[in-house]
Amino acid sequence: MGIRANTINFRGESFCSAVRWKFPTQALLPANPDILEGVDDLIQLSYLNEPSVLHNLHYRFAQDIVYSKAGPVLVAVNPCKDVQLYGNDFITAYRQNLLDSPHVYAVADAAYNEMMTDGINQSIIVSGESGAGKTETAKIAMQYLAAVVGGSSGIESEVLETSCILEAFGNAKTARNDNSSRFGKLTEIHFSATGKMCGAKIQTFLLEKSRVVQLAKGERSYHIFYQLCAGAPSGLRGRLRLKRACDYTYLNQSDCLVIHDVDDARKFHMLMGALDTVRICRDDQEQVFEMLAAVLWLGNISFRVIDHENHIDVVADEAVSNAACLIGCGIQDLILALSIHSIQAGREKVARRLTLRQAIDTRDSLAKFIYGSLFDWLVEKINVSLATGKQHTGRSISILDIYGFESFKRNSFEQFCINYANERLQQHFNRHLFKLAQEEYELDGIDWTKIDFEDNQDCLDLIEKKPLGLISLLDEESKFPKATHLTFAMKLKQHLKSNRCFKGERGGAFSIRHYAGEVLYDTGEFLEKNRDALHSEIVQLLSSCTACQLPQWFASVLEQSEKLTSSAFQLGRPAYQKQSVATKFKGQLFKLMQQLEKTTPHFIRCIKPNNKQIPGAFEKDLVLEQLRSCGVLEVVRISRSGYPTRMTHQEFTRRYGFLIPENSACQDPLSMSVAILQQFDILPEMYQVGYKKLYFRAGQIGSLEDVRKQVL
Ligand code: ADP
Ligand code: MG
Repeated sequence: MGIRANTINFRGESFCSAVRWKFPTQALLPANPDILEGVDDLIQLSYLNEPSVLHNLHYRFAQDIVYSKAGPVLVAVNPCKDVQLYGNDFITAYRQNLLDSPHVYAVADAAYNEMMTDGINQSIIVSGESGAGKTETAKIAMQYLAAVVGGSSGIESEVLETSCILEAFGNAKTARNDNSSRFGKLTEIHFSATGKMCGAKIQTFLLEKSRVVQLAKGERSYHIFYQLCAGAPSGLRGRLRLKRACDYTYLNQSDCLVIHDVDDARKFHMLMGALDTVRICRDDQEQVFEMLAAVLWLGNISFRVIDHENHIDVVADEAVSNAACLIGCGIQDLILALSIHSIQAGREKVARRLTLRQAIDTRDSLAKFIYGSLFDWLVEKINVSLATGKQHTGRSISILDIYGFESFKRNSFEQFCINYANERLQQHFNRHLFKLAQEEYELDGIDWTKIDFEDNQDCLDLIEKKPLGLISLLDEESKFPKATHLTFAMKLKQHLKSNRCFKGERGGAFSIRHYAGEVLYDTGEFLEKNRDALHSEIVQLLSSCTACQLPQWFASVLEQSEKLTSSAFQLGRPAYQKQSVATKFKGQLFKLMQQLEKTTPHFIRCIKPNNKQIPGAFEKDLVLEQLRSCGVLEVVRISRSGYPTRMTHQEFTRRYGFLIPENSACQDPLSMSVAILQQFDILPEMYQVGYKKLYFRAGQIGSLEDVRKQVL
C-alpha cells in the first residue's frame, strides 16, 4: 500500500477526492470532526483510533504545545529545545488557575492542592524511555513546588541543588541522551502543617555500576570524573595526583571525552557549590574526590602474564602506588589483593594466583564497589542534610523518575531488572486508572458495565514467584560456582515453560512477554551480574584502611548487610555471600510499591519525538510505539470500551440545541439533551445519561456533527 491510513485520515472530509490510490476499506479509520482538532485531552476525540491520537499530539507539538492529557494521564512530548512554557509568570498563572491547558505545573499544583485538602500524600510518577524528558520533567515539577510553597528555611534551594550533585555522580552521556540518568530516583518532599516545604528524602535504585569500568564507543562514564579532571584546582590536583581525563583508561576507552556545549570545569565549580549547599563539609568533599581519583588510578593498573596458564603479576607502577595511597592501604596489600585469591579446599585454605581475566575482574569489581558505595554514601549524606525537623506533619509529595521499558537488540540483566520494575509500575497504573474510570461512572449515576483490562499479574508471577519464579531460579543458579549461562537457561526452560509469558530460545536465550511487548534476553552475564561478588581479600583490604574513613565505612556497610555463609565458604565462593542484586532490587521495588500505594498517584508519560534529540522532528512510528508501551493507548482503549466522549448537558445543548424545535428550549439542560438524542435517533446503547454529563460511545459526536454541518 503506497499510503498509510493515518495520513489520509487527518483530513477526513475530502480524502476520497484528493487521494486516488486504492487501499482496503478496513484500513480506513474514521476521522474526527474539526471541533476536535488539537484537543487538550486525547480521550475527548470522538474516534479514539491510534492515528487520531497521533495526529492530535503532532498537531499540538507543531505549535510547541508539548503537553496533552489522556484522561488522568499527562502526556509530555520532549520538545528537544527551549520552549516558552516555564518560569515565574507561568508558575503564577497556574497557581492562580488563570491557565488550564495541560502542563507539569498543573499536575504539581493538583498534587499539592489534593495533599492540602484531603490530607492524603501524593505521588507524581514520571516514566518514559531514555531521553524522553523524565528527569527534566521531574525537575520542572520540583521547581514549581519550590517556587509556590517554598519555606523560609531555604530548604527548597537545597532540594533543587541535590539534582546537580546526583546528576554529576549518576548521569552520563549515552548514545541516546547527553545527560542520561543511570539510576532510578524517588524524591519525597515533606511539608509542614501550613503547607511549606520543610525537608526531603531521596531513595535511589539500581545505579549502573558497570559504566565505571566499561564503556560503549561514543559514550562516557559518569560526568563527575570528567568534571574533576577538568575543574579541580591545582592544590587538589596535586593531592590526588590527578592527570587529564584522556590519561585514564576507564575514561579514554570509548573515544569520547567531551560533550558538545558542556563545560566540565564550570560544572565542577557548580558541583562544589552544591556540595557546600547541602552541607557536606570540606573534609568529606576531599575524601569523595580521593575515592574518585582512586577509581581512575585503579583503572590504570596493569598486569603482566607470567606463565602459560595466564597467571599474572601486578605491574608495580605509579597507578598501583597512587591507587593504594588514595584508598589508604599499603601498596603491597593492594598488589596481593589483586593477584592472589585464597580458597577453601577441604579443611585447608589455599592461595591461588589469579589469571589475567580474574585479575581484571577483581580490579574492576573493586572500582565498581568503591563507586557504588560512594554514591550510596552521598545519598545518605544528602538525606541527613535534607532531613525534616520537627515541622514535619507526615504530608508529602513523592516524585518518581525511573527508567522506562527497554527493548534493545541485545538485552541483558539490566534490561530484565528495568522491565521488571516497569511491570510493577504498570500494574499500579492499570489498577489505578481502572478504579478511576469506575468511580467516575458510578458518581454520575450511570450503568457500569464491566470493561476488561489487561492485568499483568501473570508476568509478575513469572518473575517473582517462589520457589519457581525467574528471580528464585536465578538466585539458586547464582549460588553454584560451576553454573554457566547455559545451565541457567536450561533451568528456566525446565521450570517455566508452561507459563504463557515465557519462551525458551536458542543459544541460552529466553524471552518474556511483557505488557509492552516481547523482549529477548541473553543470559550471557546474568549470573555474574546478579552475584556482583567481591573477593574476601578485597573486603579485608578495605576494612584495614585506617588512613581514610570512607573505605572502612564502605566495608562495614557491606559486612552488615551480608552474611558470612559457611556453605559459600566451602564451595570456594567469595566469602561474603551478599543478597543477590535481583533479590535486593525486588525488595526495593516492593517497598516502593507499598509507599506509592499509600498515595494518590499522578502519572506523567514522557515521549521522545525522535531518537536524535532534534527539535521539530516528530517520528510517528516511534511515538506510537512509546504510547503503546507506556500505557497511554491502554488508557485510550479503556476509555473507548466505555464511554469516552463526555459533555455536560449545558455544553451539549448549547451546541446542538438549535436542532430541535424552539419550544423545547425552555426545558432544563438534562431534558433537552434527552430530547435532542431522541430526535436524532441516536441508539440507546450508544450513550448514557448521567446527572451532570452525557457519556457517548466512541464516534457518536462525529455523527451529530455531520447532521449539524448539513443543517448549517
Ligand atoms: P530522560 O531522563 O527521560 O532520559 P532527560 O530529562 O534527561 O531525559 O531529557 C533529555 C534531554 O531532552 C534534556 O537534556 C533536554 O535537552 C531535553 N528536554 C527534556 N525535557 C525538556 C523540556 N521540557 N524542555 C526542553 N528540553 C527538554
Ligand atoms: Mg533521566
